[in-house]
Amino acid sequence: MSKGLLFVVSGPSGAGKGTICKKLLEKTDIELSVSMTTRSPRPGEKEGKNYFFVPKEKFLEVLHDNGFLEYAKVYGNYYGTPKDIVLKKLDDGKDVVLEIDIQGALQIRDSYPKGIFIFILPPSMSELRKRITGRGSETEDDINLRLGETLKEVSYIDKYDYCVINGEIDEAVNRVAAIIKAEHSRVSED
Ligand code: 5GP
Repeated sequence: MSKGLLFVVSGPSGAGKGTICKKLLEKTDIELSVSMTTRSPRPGEKEGKNYFFVPKEKFLEVLHDNGFLEYAKVYGNYYGTPKDIVLKKLDDGKDVVLEIDIQGALQIRDSYPKGIFIFILPPSMSELRKRITGRGSETEDDINLRLGETLKEVSYIDKYDYCVINGEIDEAVNRVAAIIKAEHSRVSED
């Protein structure tokens, strides 16, 4: 059986990565990797579904045991992709999508070069501010911090294989699904 493909989806906070990934699960057979984080759960978030929420000591223990495919500190909290779970799914022939930040994506570029890297962009900065504000979970300072980060993040776009602008959600999901399909028809480069 051939191995599954690893897709990495990143982009500015509020660009809609999370929604795109959730809808991809309904449209394709891809599986979403659940990250470990030291961040506190937001209202409605569930342990083991959105994240594995752990104290910092536990996170550092897993890190020390080389248990992450990648990890990063984002906005003061640690986030990491559990290595064994993802590699097992790929070995079982399942496609996996990681919704992670750019620091993590760059690590995967080195540790798993066969990964396919997709950058999600909002249609404009003003739309991005509207989306983050509408979420209601961030303070004004957090929002400004995240918008400032966006400008830095966009400069890394050339490290990605694909860029999808999320203006209309279903169109963006269809584009990502088309990328997944196309990658399964790729003539191997190795
Ligand atoms: P949030 O706190 O809004 O859920 O996520 C904040 C940022 O952390 C987002 O850009 C998200 O993609 C990123 N993130 C979530 N999980 C991981 C992970 O396992 N590794 C890395 N590097 N970033 C992650």
